[in-house]
Amino acid sequence: MSETGGKSVALIRGNAEYQEASLEPSATIMKVWKKVHNDMRSEFGEAIFRSWLKPLKLQAFYHGTMEVSVPTRFMRDWIQNHYAERILAMCVEESANGEEEVKRLQIVVVQNAIVEDDAEQDAPTKANQNQKIDVSEISSPLDERFTFDSFVVGKPNALAHAAARRVVESAAIPFNPLFIYGGVGLGKTHLMHAIAHAIEEQTPEKTVMYLSAEKFMYQFVKALRNDSTMTFKEQFRSVDVLMIDDIQFIAGKESTQEEFFHTFNALVDQNKQIIISADKAPGDLNGLDERLRSRLAWGLVADIHPTTYDLRLGILQTKRELLGADVPDSVLEFLALKVTSNIRELEGALNRIVAHADVSRQEITLENTQEVLQDLLRAHDRRITIDEIQRKVAEHYNLRMADMHSARRARNVARPRQVAMYLAKQLTARSLPEIGRKFGGRDHTTVMHAVRKVEELMEDDAQIAQDVDVIRRALTG
Ligand code: ADP
Ligand code: MG
Repeated sequence: MSETGGKSVALIRGNAEYQEASLEPSATIMKVWKKVHNDMRSEFGEAIFRSWLKPLKLQAFYHGTMEVSVPTRFMRDWIQNHYAERILAMCVEESANGEEEVKRLQIVVVQNAIVEDDAEQDAPTKANQNQKIDVSEISSPLDERFTFDSFVVGKPNALAHAAARRVVESAAIPFNPLFIYGGVGLGKTHLMHAIAHAIEEQTPEKTVMYLSAEKFMYQFVKALRNDSTMTFKEQFRSVDVLMIDDIQFIAGKESTQEEFFHTFNALVDQNKQIIISADKAPGDLNGLDERLRSRLAWGLVADIHPTTYDLRLGILQTKRELLGADVPDSVLEFLALKVTSNIRELEGALNRIVAHADVSRQEITLENTQEVLQDLLRAHDRRITIDEIQRKVAEHYNLRMADMHSARRARNVARPRQVAMYLAKQLTARSLPEIGRKFGGRDHTTVMHAVRKVEELMEDDAQIAQDVDVIRRALTG
């Protein structure tokens, strides 16, 4: 198509009203447009010009109406709402006192305008708005294993899971965006893939785009470099569901944020579902533009908490079934107790002992589990110090730190001290004498006695068992 649109082109006005147009603008108007179009760079800035205004083309001029085209409906609306008034003012000014004066500005959609200077291009027949577009190049592949079926629900992830289900099951959009956040390896990506799988299963005609924020940035930068931001915008804006994983990645990346913000707004305006994950709550995402942060919190913000013992055990049981491996309950319990950092590591630990048993043709026992996972367990134990344990225990029982070291034997002090010794034995790699020294220079036999005593008590005193569990969670969570 030529710059002036002199040829007959199929125009889509408003709601797909087709019309043949051949109202060729005069040389004067063409000159006005050329000047104005050029001035837009300085008027609106280079970034806006490149993303929005560059593709504007003069199509026709009739009775004071300057008709310019853009390749997509979305762009037309956006320009209409944001820049049209100023563009018209520029045209009016530029054409004032000339042969022909511009009085109105009409922005129309010419779908093949995106293919520049391609006179051979057929009329836009294939550009069917309802057609499912191909996003496979941008979208990241989904992990087959990450489904709702394989997602174990527990207290820490119940809210996020319920929200994810709502998104899948609601006919209308229940909240926009759905913002899921939580620490590493707690199931954010798993949940997002589960949503994508479920939507694709239920409504295959919907276009679901899933990608990491990192990939979003990569695609955006690539589009900038190839001068194909139009295609980029159009691709993102034509999806039904957009999922961006690990949004924290674009913190500090200003132009990517800007682009994402526009995409986000465009999709929300079109009532399309957006799902975002991050490692922090929207308000805590440093390096993210304030507008974007507040926009992210508009819908439902669901956090995934650190795992609990119960959830860890549940996941291990599910995983055991999936693996079809012969793993004793005691081993699962041991892992649930020891590997508390996140679910990824927990799974990794189970996979390792299963693989080891396979290769060595040994049965899985508690002993060889401890052996196989030695390094991992030690790494874990190192994270918790006896000081921390003493502090937490003191806090829990309303004691002073000094009570942990003191010689006082009153039950209300001695019992918590024993609990602290027990936890020190459980959660650290310290030897009994080392632990004894940390408790005011006590003998290793005292520590051993304390450990046995607490183990015994936990069996038949629910209160103690609960105390220990609460403190352990506080320390390991
Ligand atoms: P994140 O994206 O939060 O870092 P992932 O979604 O990648 O975490 O989860 C890490 C691993 O833990 C994955 O293998 C995932 O399948 C598993 N996982 C996480 N949460 C659960 C859960 N509730 N039930 C079963 N597996 C889970
Ligand atoms: Mg993830």
